[in-house]
Amino acid sequence: VKTVNVVGAGLAGSEAAWQLAEAGVPVNLYEMRPVKTTPAHHTGDFAELVCSNSLRGNGLTNAVGVLKEEMRRLNSIVIASADETAVPAGGALAVDRNNFSALITKRVKEHPMITVISEEMTKIPKGITIICTGPLTSEALAEEISAYNGSHGFYFYDAAAPIIDSTTIDREKVYLKSRYDKGEAAYLNCPMTEEEFIRFYEALIEAEVAPQKDFEKEKFFEGCMPIEVMAKRGIKTMLFGPMKPVGLEDPKTGKRPYAVIQLRQDNAAASMYNMVGFQTHLKWGEQKRVFQMIPGLENAEFLRYGVMHRNSFMNSPELLRPTYQSKKRDDLFFAGQMTGVEGYVESAGSGLVAGLNAARLAKDEELLVFPRETAIGSMSHYITHAEGKHFQPMNANFGLFPSLPERIRDKKMRYEALADRALNALTEMNI
Ligand code: FAD
Repeated sequence: VKTVNVVGAGLAGSEAAWQLAEAGVPVNLYEMRPVKTTPAHHTGDFAELVCSNSLRGNGLTNAVGVLKEEMRRLNSIVIASADETAVPAGGALAVDRNNFSALITKRVKEHPMITVISEEMTKIPKGITIICTGPLTSEALAEEISAYNGSHGFYFYDAAAPIIDSTTIDREKVYLKSRYDKGEAAYLNCPMTEEEFIRFYEALIEAEVAPQKDFEKEKFFEGCMPIEVMAKRGIKTMLFGPMKPVGLEDPKTGKRPYAVIQLRQDNAAASMYNMVGFQTHLKWGEQKRVFQMIPGLENAEFLRYGVMHRNSFMNSPELLRPTYQSKKRDDLFFAGQMTGVEGYVESAGSGLVAGLNAARLAKDEELLVFPRETAIGSMSHYITHAEGKHFQPMNANFGLFPSLPERIRDKKMRYEALADRALNALTEMNI
């Protein structure tokens, strides 16, 4: 059997190497730490959690909980090690970060099929390879990947606006319309009176911003400014920017509102809408508090909050297949945060798929595409089918799952049905 190169022993790389090794495929695992580190890592251990020690929800009424359960059933080293090093955290799976990474490091290093090579990879290797060097990929390799993918294929920063569950938008208050009625009516518009706007503006400029890491401060977002920074430039600035009301007269009254926030459909199923121009660096709790002041969004559920941070990621809809293979090279896979999945578990989940598939390629077996009904498959579908122009990384969430054939109004029951369907679909794959 051919040897597979795995570059980066983070959440995705550790999982990918493990899946390959367990499938009987020899692995050369390249990790640059501790020889060279990143601005966010502190240790030389594999699968280091760079920030929170929580792997988020563990129950099956939570998409990331479903993802974990699928991974458990697929012999995930990341989830098994998290279960073994868990600390009490209510409905979440949180871990003792040191024990967690130490356990993964030990298991990976002791696996007879894995050879660990402590060096920075500066080129994309030949032969079957999985690149999973994460959001803080070293500069030399980032340049290589950027060159490989072409000029618009690799981004260095996230600037994502919040995404809302469409079923939680108050349709009585918002209206469907495109500016000047150009083309098909495509946006949901949240209208504001002058008083509503002033209250919103004041809340926005006073809201608390998430702390930035030193290495994040140097960045400047031309044309992609956080909404709170734009607001601080002056009370009228947003009215000439993302909250511009011209051409958006409310069809019910025929009048132009004082200000408008537009929501853009984010997926083909129209189950998710993003807030146009509202990329933000506010703390998540503050986003909920301030954005729920917007008419129509009083009860909005945020599937993903806005984020702005350093994050090397690829334009995967243009570049990858749902197997996590490069469209240009059959034997080159990418996995982890750099493919546009977002989060520890999601990164490990993509590493799992890339690892299973690279093993199959090494053994001349057919590659696997996970069904969209599974949490794992919903993510590979999202990163390969999202609209390339606005592609932004995404957490696992039920908005990515195909809707159920029947409408279930009760949210908990709906999520349980989605989870059930996901686990059945996985069982049917018979892997
Ligand atoms: P990583 O876990 O970063 O692994 C990449 C590995 O590749 C690293 O070990 C790195 O040393 C190595 N590497 C890089 N370049 C090279 C090279 N050229 N040669 C060899 N090795 C190389 N997600 C959450 O769910 N919760 C959070 O709280 C959270 N906080 C975050 C905070 C920050 C500052 C950042 C940047 C991201 C955060 N994320 C968080 C997002 C994401 O889940 C993590 O970044 C996650 O670690 C991504 O997994 P990964 O395997 O893709 O990359």
